[in-house]
Amino acid sequence: MRPVVGSILHLRRLLVSNVWLLDGGPGDRWLVDCGHWAERATLALELRAAGLGPRDLTGVLLTHRHSDHAGNARWLQSQGVKIHAHRADAEVLDGTRPRGLLERGEGSRLAGFLARFENRWPVRLTVDRALDDGDAIAGLEVHWVPGHTEGSVFYRHATTRALLSGDTLLAAVPPLTIEQRLALPYPTFCVDLAQALASLRAFHRSGFDYAHLLAGHGRPVLGDARARAEALLAAEGLG
Ligand SMILES: [Zn+2]
Repeated sequence: MRPVVGSILHLRRLLVSNVWLLDGGPGDRWLVDCGHWAERATLALELRAAGLGPRDLTGVLLTHRHSDHAGNARWLQSQGVKIHAHRADAEVLDGTRPRGLLERGEGSRLAGFLARFENRWPVRLTVDRALDDGDAIAGLEVHWVPGHTEGSVFYRHATTRALLSGDTLLAAVPPLTIEQRLALPYPTFCVDLAQALASLRAFHRSGFDYAHLLAGHGRPVLGDARARAEALLAAEGLG
């Protein structure tokens, strides 16, 4: 585990997607996302290396319902960890709302393969608490930014000026996420790309301040993240 900013740490051994620990000490330890199910042992190892077990976690806050981010939620829940997600994704996860399917479209062959996998084996889960836009939890503000999934959110940590953005604003280019730079959500993986872009634009127009971007994929962008995101949006005609 590697400190990123303030009390936020990165579980650096996880490779598929980013998992963050907000460590406010006993009774105030939260994971933002929990990784792909294929990395369950690595997740447990990362926690153990920090002297923690699942029972030391206060809860998990999902940025969205996709299996590379919510893949270990059911396992953690079985260990007594409370799982939180935005209401719209919570309803998809428990089957009370229809699940938007992914289509390859113009995306790469790999993206098409991953999309079919997600469509075929989605995470199914009944969350412990559904979140709404404007909620405050774990020192974070919940900002609903639908489009990548029905209930995608940004979590803004006002004290450190960090934005945990899931896959609605990326720090690496999908689907391989080797090239490290700010990137818009990848079309193949969005249930509604136009809505995702509109959400991204609206969030930045609303004036919420942040300095650091902790995205679902890619390394942390520290210091000038908001300026770089605005430059990206302007370059894409979304300013
Ligand atoms: Zn992802």
